[in-house]
Amino acid sequence: MDKEVFDFFNTDLQFIHGVGPVLATKFNEVLGGRRVLDFLLHIPSYVRPREILDSVVGAQSGDTITISVLVKSHKKGGLFKGKRHPTQIICADKFAAPITIQFFNVNYLDYWTEKLPIGQWRIVSGKLDFSNRNGAIINHPEFIELPENAAKIPTHQAIYPSGEGLSQKTFANVRNQIFNTIHERINANNTSTNMLEFIDALEHVHFPETNDDLAPNSIYVAKLAYCELFAHQSAIAINRSVRKAQTNKRAVRVKKHNLIDKFYDILPFKLTNAQQRTIDEIFADFNRPTPMMRLVQGDVGSGKTMVACASMVKMAESGAQSVLLAPTDTLAQQHFAKLKPMCDKLGLVCDVLTGRDKGVSRREKLISLKSGRTKIAIGTHALFSEDVEYKDLGLVVIDEQHRFGVQQRTSMREKGHNPDMLALSATPIPRTLSMTVYGDMDISIINEKPAGRIPIKTTKLPIERVNALISRIAPQIENGAKVFWVCPLVEESETSDMMAAELRFNELNKHFPHTGLCHGRMDKKQRDKVMAEFADENSKMRVLVSTTVIEVGIDVPSATIMVIENAERFGLAALHQLRGRVGRGSKQSFCILLYGNNISPDGLKRLDVLCETDDGFVIAEQDLMMRGVGELLGTKQSGWIQYHFVNYREHRDLFKLAQSASMDNNITENIWAKQLRNIFDCSTIAGA
Ligand code: ADP
Ligand code: MG
Repeated sequence: MDKEVFDFFNTDLQFIHGVGPVLATKFNEVLGGRRVLDFLLHIPSYVRPREILDSVVGAQSGDTITISVLVKSHKKGGLFKGKRHPTQIICADKFAAPITIQFFNVNYLDYWTEKLPIGQWRIVSGKLDFSNRNGAIINHPEFIELPENAAKIPTHQAIYPSGEGLSQKTFANVRNQIFNTIHERINANNTSTNMLEFIDALEHVHFPETNDDLAPNSIYVAKLAYCELFAHQSAIAINRSVRKAQTNKRAVRVKKHNLIDKFYDILPFKLTNAQQRTIDEIFADFNRPTPMMRLVQGDVGSGKTMVACASMVKMAESGAQSVLLAPTDTLAQQHFAKLKPMCDKLGLVCDVLTGRDKGVSRREKLISLKSGRTKIAIGTHALFSEDVEYKDLGLVVIDEQHRFGVQQRTSMREKGHNPDMLALSATPIPRTLSMTVYGDMDISIINEKPAGRIPIKTTKLPIERVNALISRIAPQIENGAKVFWVCPLVEESETSDMMAAELRFNELNKHFPHTGLCHGRMDKKQRDKVMAEFADENSKMRVLVSTTVIEVGIDVPSATIMVIENAERFGLAALHQLRGRVGRGSKQSFCILLYGNNISPDGLKRLDVLCETDDGFVIAEQDLMMRGVGELLGTKQSGWIQYHFVNYREHRDLFKLAQSASMDNNITENIWAKQLRNIFDCSTIAGA
């Protein structure tokens, strides 16, 4: 059943009539794939109506219009006095209002004049330009038809998101052929009802009549979104059942709790209730025979590292090893510096391994890991190089987990025998979304900051006031305050942004000698060195100018001022993350959001959200409402699910529906779910 349809879905687009390898490659760029299915999952973004108008009167410049015109005269174009003149066909509409059809490619003059002969009526469709000098003009109309062939112009044209070299006509042609073939195949076969309904919904969104058909709440889009969610949720459910069938029995080996009790004794502070609750949840997971898969979400500064540390100490009671994986060298070293003294007191061997370790020192560290002597290893992905072996890896902690892809997470897990996995994240995801974003993970939330923290004062300021700002912070710097000064980095214009950071650095260096600079173009060693110097309590570096490389967890308790330039160019969640780099000590901290001249009213409102609240979840929710999910989740390589039809904001209720449908015990045998998993490639779904 449905095999013929699936075979066609998997056909390379180059075999569609009129496509061929060159166009197929272009489609591949736009669609991210070159199969018929990839085309089908790429739906139009809007509908362009092409009802035939009687008159240009009332139409707006920029509108795409379709209109009956009477051809009055031809004005040949060409080179006159060194200037290029277009060929013009002077026409009039039904009310004798003048309208000009214009062609710049004068070589085909005869072609156009034949298509638009004097004294005859034609229907043309294209984008209208109104100018004071030339009146109404259509440049290069997309359609020119005889009145009796008006039906050849689509009254509702679906406009696809496209790329270079792919016209809307090509899209329409390919779409028409695809659906013709689909109809042949489903007529000749006993296609399943589910498949028929799925195809029907696809057909409606590929041949939309109004923009309403393409809106998230149209029944067709909602249907497709539901199918997509059901595919993903069923994949997650199956992953979970596979995991539940695995076992690791480390917990039963633990007889005494001497280590963890001692750990609590030597802690320099009292854990917050939220930290304690999270630790209890983790220990309960340890006691279950199935491997743990838990995400700890907590705002920056909520104290996730200590939770990780408690978990690793607990794991050591069973004799098993733990690793703490950090996204950067600096962060790994920082964690090590913090945890090593505690481990020493507990008599636990703790080590750090990063890309910096080479030669003898590295070999010795590897031997210690392999023998099982090292109980807690802190480091970067170097911990998972092929030649690193563990005696008994029981727990993998991933700090700032959004920095790691699915692939990396899988390879970490393979180093141990069903190790427990603990992910730490400072990116708050609204609760309604977390199950789809994180898939098969249990979630603990640290929604409380350590006592004694003073809330950060956040203000916004136009960039013209930057000098006033500099004189305002000067005395504080004099008194030992440290300042993060962030300049944005946008991929497209990496070079110019880097220059902006360098200019700012030069400027600030005049006011504050020993200012540091740190950006993505510097090599990693240099960057780490500057950051380490800034973090060093005794260094003279008071100001660090950087692009967003500091976003990741660096801890500089004496930093109390965060300045962010062009704040309007960041997502709220990113700004909140950056802000969390200050306010970690016992002194009052400040965050100043500098904005550019061309900020929109909405942009100002977004910054206000940040000035008003410090709650990461509220900010995430606002970000979601204001910008959609793209910004919230960050870049593609972070391993989040990218949906075709699902709109995180509009389809929240469908998430729940799809999830409960996937809870069915027979989900593994459900043929339609399986087919949907093929359609919506679910091979990379978390908890991988
Ligand atoms: P994050 O959740 O952003 O990773 P950290 O784990 O780096 O936060 O903790 C931030 C700072 O708060 C660290 O200096 C840490 O030692 C301190 N800290 C953690 N828990 C507590 C607590 N319960 N009371 C006081 N300070 C704490
Ligand atoms: Mg952290």
